[in-house]
Amino acid sequence: MTHGQPFESVNQKTLRHPIAYVGIGLHCGRKVSMVVHPAEPNTGIYFLRKDLSAGEGLIAARWYNVVDTEMSTALGNEYGHSIDTVEHLMAALRGCGVDNALVEVDGPEVPIMDGSSEPFVAMIERIGTQTQDAPRNAIWIQRPVEVRDGDKYAILMPGNTPRITVEIDFDNAVVGSQTLSVELVDEAFRRQVARARTFGFMNQIEALKKRGLIKGGSLRNAILVDGDRIVNESGLRYRDEFVRHKVLDCLGDLSLAAVPILGHYYAYKPGHELNSQLLQKLFESRDAWSYITVNEFNALMGQGMKPPRQSVSEVLRKQAVCC
Ligand SMILES: [Zn+2]
Repeated sequence: MTHGQPFESVNQKTLRHPIAYVGIGLHCGRKVSMVVHPAEPNTGIYFLRKDLSAGEGLIAARWYNVVDTEMSTALGNEYGHSIDTVEHLMAALRGCGVDNALVEVDGPEVPIMDGSSEPFVAMIERIGTQTQDAPRNAIWIQRPVEVRDGDKYAILMPGNTPRITVEIDFDNAVVGSQTLSVELVDEAFRRQVARARTFGFMNQIEALKKRGLIKGGSLRNAILVDGDRIVNESGLRYRDEFVRHKVLDCLGDLSLAAVPILGHYYAYKPGHELNSQLLQKLFESRDAWSYITVNEFNALMGQGMKPPRQSVSEVLRKQAVCC
């Protein structure tokens, strides 16, 4: 693979073998067993709740199935069943280039593991991925798509690589204001993002617990900030771990588009709700993007092409690189 290309494979990938995980659900507090299985080309990512009646537990990991975004991203189906806290696993699958997988869980939530994507990534890398006989598709942003909520905003802008830029601004001495821009090529996700853990503030814990949230939360799966100090004895994994975790969350949420997004995601104080709204707007704005195979994209890039405004196949035909 040439350094800096957004995709290491022009074809879709799945896992070489199933991977089993056991952990605690961050919000439900229950032990959850999860097995991530290989899946056929063009299926994308699906969740299957094994604890529910047969035929009722299948939930597609797609933007239109988002049912809750308060503390994490939850997906639901037509039977009223849901799977919570999908974003760290979704980020790991996208970050490792896994297009197709069936995720079986025996509870209502993906295990939180250590609060980052690293445990998922480590096993995916150990088991390995399998290239499949189907072209990989991408969404290529041609015109900006933007959503706002008060002073928060998220924008998808044209670009030829998948880039995520996040600014956060917390009224807290430890977190404060942090900005990070990551071009998600080569090893960037694994090295710069995957190990960043979720975080919480001591003065919010009681209120969240009273509402039945974060029952499984502990120093083993989150960074806890108490005023101007970090409670975890081991400290931070990255100096700016907070904004890195936000980039991780945003990648996980954006992966609900079902295919990689070629473009620059730029957000100020993003959250799961803003990301969900952004994907809704993206799919309503059909003239703002093109579907393209990675093969077609590479051919265009090889000719030094700028993002076209008309359909990609039209452009390819004009350039006589397509049948
Ligand atoms: Zn998170």
